[in-house]
Amino acid sequence: MRLVQSSNPPPFPALSDPEAKVLDYQTQQHKLFPQLATAYAFHFMGTSLQEFFEESYSAILDRDFSLLPELHALSSGLKAMVSEFCTQGAELCRRACGGHGYSKLSGLPSLVSRVTASCTYEGENTVLYLQVARFLVKSYLQAQASPGSTSKTSLPQSVAYLTAPDLAKCPARRAADFLHPELYTRAWAHVAVRLIKDSAHHLQTRLQSGADEHEAWNQTTVIHLQAAKAHCYYITVKGFAEALQKLDHEPAIQQALQRLCDLFALHGILSTAGDFLQDGFLSGAQVDMVRSAYLDLLFLIRKDAISLTDAFDFTDQCLNSALGCYDGNVYERLFYWAQKSPTNTQGNPAYQKYLRPLLQSWRSKL
Ligand SMILES: Cc1cc2nc3c(=O)[nH]c(=O)nc-3n(C[C@H](O)[C@H](O)[C@H](O)COP(=O)(O)OP(=O)(O)OC[C@H]3O[C@@H](n4cnc5c(N)ncnc54)[C@H](O)[C@@H]3O)c2cc1C
Repeated sequence: MRLVQSSNPPPFPALSDPEAKVLDYQTQQHKLFPQLATAYAFHFMGTSLQEFFEESYSAILDRDFSLLPELHALSSGLKAMVSEFCTQGAELCRRACGGHGYSKLSGLPSLVSRVTASCTYEGENTVLYLQVARFLVKSYLQAQASPGSTSKTSLPQSVAYLTAPDLAKCPARRAADFLHPELYTRAWAHVAVRLIKDSAHHLQTRLQSGADEHEAWNQTTVIHLQAAKAHCYYITVKGFAEALQKLDHEPAIQQALQRLCDLFALHGILSTAGDFLQDGFLSGAQVDMVRSAYLDLLFLIRKDAISLTDAFDFTDQCLNSALGCYDGNVYERLFYWAQKSPTNTQGNPAYQKYLRPLLQSWRSKL
């Protein structure tokens, strides 16, 4: 309903116009575009993990097991992160579809329950994150034990940032500064390193105060979990940014994906802003800048959002969703599928026996 007369055209159609596209609502973009960005981030992360697996496996065949701890940490952490984000994202997408998201015809109820179980099978996520945390504490202590240049070079590549020069404060002065991959990758590195240090120090303090190893570990696991999650996010942001550098020959695709990479990094910062504010790395004003850059990105991503989603190339048969079909004929398909539903094709004895005669007797009186 148009409530205010204005000289500017209304942003959304009046009742007589075609239905508004819900994807034009900023809140809807805020729900869905981070999911889109995350899907691409995980795609690139998956490719890079596969390459690392092949490298490690070929070394193992030559009886060199030195890459195994890092492969274990990377694959454990990314399994936990991907399944956790997919579970949250699938439920968010379901709710973004309103009431239709709860209909079986949307395909979303079965997707949500299928993906939720992935947080438990093939390694329960908390247990996996804690395995990452053990690797992180070990690597941190290794870096501390011999701070000379030789130890830096011997740290596994995914944790080499533990010894890289750190920024105490974020140098950004305006929102646009947050659109530089180097800046936000360093911001994520800073937070991950701080949380890893913090978790290692808490563990050491417990041990020094007389707790045995198991007890000390158990009393610090909440902090370890936080550190492991920040590390996984950092690795994913870094991997995404590096993968895009290789797309120089496709500038249009590179630009569209760069926006998703920026969005993934900034959405993560906004979702865990407390971690960035806690030691003063970001100021309150800088968090405002992050939000402003993030909101601008939502607007820019809107025009590519459908193509970026179609590019997943899921078939209609695979999605099995009246809402997600390629032709976009949602309402026709919902109606057609509902007609074919057994509820509407098979006779209902209770209806035949009680309701039908009742309805017919009413009709005869009218
Ligand atoms: C849909 C589905 C399909 C499955 N398919 C198979 C299959 O085909 N083959 C098969 O062998 N198994 C299968 N499983 C079993 C699955 O591998 C286990 O459920 C999973 O490894 C978790 O183990 P658990 O159930 O013993 O839970 P537990 O390990 O007992 O976990 C219970 C809770 O305790 C916590 N916890 C446990 N240990 C620790 C710790 N050290 N520190 C902190 N917290 C801890 C966990 O975080 C969790 O919250 C399947 C499970 C599901 C849900």
